[in-house]
Amino acid sequence: MIILKLGGSIITEKDAKIPTINDKNLARISKEIKSALNHLDHTNDYNNGLIIVHGAGSFGHPFASEYQIGKPFKIEEDFEKKKIGFSLTQSWVKKLNTVICDALREEGIPVVSIQPSSFVITKNKRIISANLDIIEKYLENGFIPVIYGDVVLDREETIKMAVVSGDQLINYLAKHLKPERVILGTDVDGVFNKNPKKHPDAKIITEVTSLDDLESMDSTTNIDVTGGMIGKIKELIELAEIGIESEIINAEKESFVEKALCGEIVLGTTIKM
Ligand code: ADP
Repeated sequence: MIILKLGGSIITEKDAKIPTINDKNLARISKEIKSALNHLDHTNDYNNGLIIVHGAGSFGHPFASEYQIGKPFKIEEDFEKKKIGFSLTQSWVKKLNTVICDALREEGIPVVSIQPSSFVITKNKRIISANLDIIEKYLENGFIPVIYGDVVLDREETIKMAVVSGDQLINYLAKHLKPERVILGTDVDGVFNKNPKKHPDAKIITEVTSLDDLESMDSTTNIDVTGGMIGKIKELIELAEIGIESEIINAEKESFVEKALCGEIVLGTTIKM
């Protein structure tokens, strides 16, 4: 089985003030996934399955940060306001998921939408409960589950609710479902020694084996509510520690997603031990 992530930076205009889809990327990548599935001879078989995880981008971050989802709060009034914020965020990321599922289905891919807020619970922002039986069952039947960054309830009384990023979902799904490959498509060529969007002289690190490789990383820039690149790598290092390799590739580059799904090596960063 393969787990593929489509970053919020790819399928949405991430820095847009209002939720905006990146239609061009979405249409192209949907086609690439379809032709990869043809090539991989995707059948009704769990082992040949594919799970797609997508980020929230401009459909999630503006609301999650406006309503401070996952931040401690005290008074009862705040909770009432936060609940509206939770509901609003849930609604927007669900809309995004619908658009993505529609685009994939138009290519003939039998997608099924999986909504984290309906079955995932966190404690201190980490997933502690999520029954994956349903996902396994869909895979066994040849469906392609599409799961996404969402808001969820949190057991920690001081925060009560949290954002679960696509990257944390990748971590949890991979630990429990043990995929053969984990591929993350984002809007840069991989992990660099510093943020390549801010530093033109940044150099790509083709293999990350420990968080120490990132010491020189500029962690103060490009931080979103889910932790940006640093948060992503932390999730993936945990997987590498239990023998699950992952690769970060540039999904903005034509055919990279397709090639990576088909097992071809494309420019990017591998996270392994
Ligand atoms: P996605 O939405 O695709 O999951 P994120 O926006 O969370 O991706 O993370 C990708 C972004 O991380 C890039 O657009 C880049 O600006 C930023 N970034 C910060 N530091 C680095 C780094 N050292 N190497 C690569 N990207 C970095």
